[in-house]
Amino acid sequence: MDLGIRDRVAIVAAASRGIGFAAARELAREGVRVFLCSRDEQKARAAAEQIARETGAEVVGVRADVTNDEETARFVRLTEERGGKVDILVTNAGGPPAATFADADLEMYRRAFELNALSAIRLAQLVVPSMRERRWGRIVNITSISVKQPIMGLLLSNTIRAGLTGWAKTLSAEIAADNVTVNSVAPGYTQTERQEELTEAKAKATGKTKEELMEMRAAEIPMRRSAVPEEIAAAVAFLASERASYITGVTLQVDGGWVRSLY
Ligand code: NAD
Repeated sequence: MDLGIRDRVAIVAAASRGIGFAAARELAREGVRVFLCSRDEQKARAAAEQIARETGAEVVGVRADVTNDEETARFVRLTEERGGKVDILVTNAGGPPAATFADADLEMYRRAFELNALSAIRLAQLVVPSMRERRWGRIVNITSISVKQPIMGLLLSNTIRAGLTGWAKTLSAEIAADNVTVNSVAPGYTQTERQEELTEAKAKATGKTKEELMEMRAAEIPMRRSAVPEEIAAAVAFLASERASYITGVTLQVDGGWVRSLY
């Protein structure tokens, strides 16, 4: 399937590794001109260079912390100067720390809201007006299956991402008539460096081996394995594409069947 987005300009936030990196690469494979960011200049550049080398596409890596107003605005400005107006926005950031009600203080909620909600809203505020004017735009938020089925121990993610999903649904209806779509991709367990780090920490804490923990997790997933980042990225690229022109306001879970509900 030709996704029909060659030469479109995309911003992919938080993409020096993991799911963001895979999403940036997938879009670059489609001939999209990709501008990605991370908090570390060198890592952002290295990621962009790797993707450009692999795909032949134009890929630019910029230092920007998506929790920072000025850095985010600078990132968008630089993209517009070098690439033109933004057609595709993929929002992403690191995950909030694991927490339960008993150990989450209010400051932790505030930080999680900044990291996993305002980071996306801020970027959207900067690019949506021009998408509406030009009557074409795609926003894809990377969230989590926790928006469909809360994950015990991840109180902050469960809370904040559900809020962002409500925001995305509302925005999607407000701007659908201008041909700008807003959707989310909700990854299930995905083998990224962050996931590796979390599993290693849990192995130390529980005395189980990494392999044992991965087997226990796989047993909960109908497909009996975690995703690889490319499987999440494929869904992102589809929702960002011309082919997904009549899909808006949805959350597409990519979870190997983990969520047990009908919707
Ligand atoms: P990761 O830690 O491997 O990658 C995160 C990327 O975001 C890195 O490039 C990092 O540099 C960048 N980043 C983090 N905070 C940033 C900030 N403030 N500004 C700019 N860049 C920032 O994580 P991942 O596993 O790829 O996960 C991506 C997102 O998807 C996270 O929010 C995570 O919680 C969520 N998620 C992951 C999984 C999973 O199993 N991996 C499952 C569900 C949801």
